Amino acid sequence: MEEGLENFVPLIKRSRGYEELKKDVIDSGICSGCGACAAFCDRVGLTEDGSVPASDCNMTMGAVKCNIDGICYDCCPHVSYSVGGLEDVVFGARREDGLLGQYLKAFAVRSKDKEVLKKAQDGGAATSLLLAAVNEGFSDAAVVTGRDNSWNVDSSASSDKKEIVGGAGTKYARAPGILKLGENLRKIPRLAIVGTGCQIAGTRRLEKKLLSAVPKAELTLIGLFCYENFPYTRLKEIIEDRLGLKMEDVTKTDITKGKLFVWTKDGKTHEKPVKEFADLAPESCEICRDFTATFSDITCGSIGSDDGWTTVIVRSQRGMDLLNAAKEKDYIEVSDKVNLEAVKRTGGFKGKKRAKVLSEREKEGKFVPDYS
Ligand SMILES: Cc1cc2nc3c(=O)[nH]c(=O)nc-3n(C[C@H](O)[C@H](O)[C@H](O)COP(=O)(O)OP(=O)(O)OC[C@H]3O[C@@H](n4cnc5c(N)ncnc54)[C@H](O)[C@@H]3O)c2cc1C
Ligand code: SF4
Ligand code: SF4
Ligand code: SF4
Repeated sequence: MEEGLENFVPLIKRSRGYEELKKDVIDSGICSGCGACAAFCDRVGLTEDGSVPASDCNMTMGAVKCNIDGICYDCCPHVSYSVGGLEDVVFGARREDGLLGQYLKAFAVRSKDKEVLKKAQDGGAATSLLLAAVNEGFSDAAVVTGRDNSWNVDSSASSDKKEIVGGAGTKYARAPGILKLGENLRKIPRLAIVGTGCQIAGTRRLEKKLLSAVPKAELTLIGLFCYENFPYTRLKEIIEDRLGLKMEDVTKTDITKGKLFVWTKDGKTHEKPVKEFADLAPESCEICRDFTATFSDITCGSIGSDDGWTTVIVRSQRGMDLLNAAKEKDYIEVSDKVNLEAVKRTGGFKGKKRAKVLSEREKEGKFVPDYS
């Protein structure tokens, strides 16, 4: 803002916006590329690597008030906000367990659809729940993240079974799942969205502040456990430079039990300890507080259930209704054989790393988000 300009507008409180977002989050290295800031403001754009340059934000050109109230700052999952306050709004209750978050019940779930199981990362619960959401009256379309042969990711909204099933499987690359949320919601107000914890938290913060203004908007949010995720160029570096493989040859990837596993077209399995590419882990993921996507309606993850099953944590009544409908209509089978202690152990490792990185940031005078 031009020097002294604020003296002429004493009654208008300057809203926070892109300048603060850039300073606190983007330039301080903790943007996870979730896309929330760009979901409703077309002045923010995500690059392939998830950095967020503003093209012509009016707040960077001396405007006192952003016409959408600095939503880019207020929806970011990595700025300070009250987690308990958001839980009150979303669930009407606060969590008893810091890592698992507010939840009603947890299960192990497996899809009953052979096509889904063939493509799925684990038990295909996420894909089958999306199919049930679309076919059983919860949503009109689902936002899924697909990939091309080189594992470039893209996200789109669809009600077509082939496209929803086509999105199955985990991609360890930042995806633009909620980037087009505003545009999608204006066309399809009842959406099911699957995403990582930062994407789900960003969406909830938008829901609280902005979605009430979108007539008939209704979201079903399916979260994913998430220890870390990479900008595409870093994923490529890990797979091509450190493992010596070609992206085009990769058929599946999984990070579990401290190792990255990569399957290739020749039927071979390759592995590398996660610590050997720890230097490529984004700082946003190191300081992330949300391993289990605690603001979802339902969260899905690998850890905590047998191979070929998905651990499913149901948090809201909407989530429970969806799970029950999917079970009754034979999309999924459901078991109680779930080990939440294993989930908490993994979340605990993440918490220790987080505490260490945050304390270093504090010493360096960098922005440290406060979620109390
Ligand atoms: C980046 C990432 C890290 C993860 N880390 C862990 C972990 O540390 N521990 C653990 O237990 N589980 C982790 N998971 C979750 C796990 O890999 C499975 O996604 C989950 O168990 C659901 O399996 P499923 O067979 O039910 O899902 P599927 O039926 O295979 O469906 C997966 C869904 O995930 C969506 N998706 C895929 N990649 C992305 C992406 N990059 N961003 C947003 N959405 C995406 C797809 O659109 C699809 O709808 C991670 C997932 C992701 C995306
Ligand atoms: S116009 Fe408002 S919401 Fe958009 S980038 Fe600027 S401050 Fe953020
Ligand atoms: S909202 Fe998401 S994409 Fe935007 S600055 Fe925050 S973390 Fe980055
Ligand atoms: S670890 Fe956290 S910040 Fe990183 S992608 Fe996953 S949910 Fe987002």
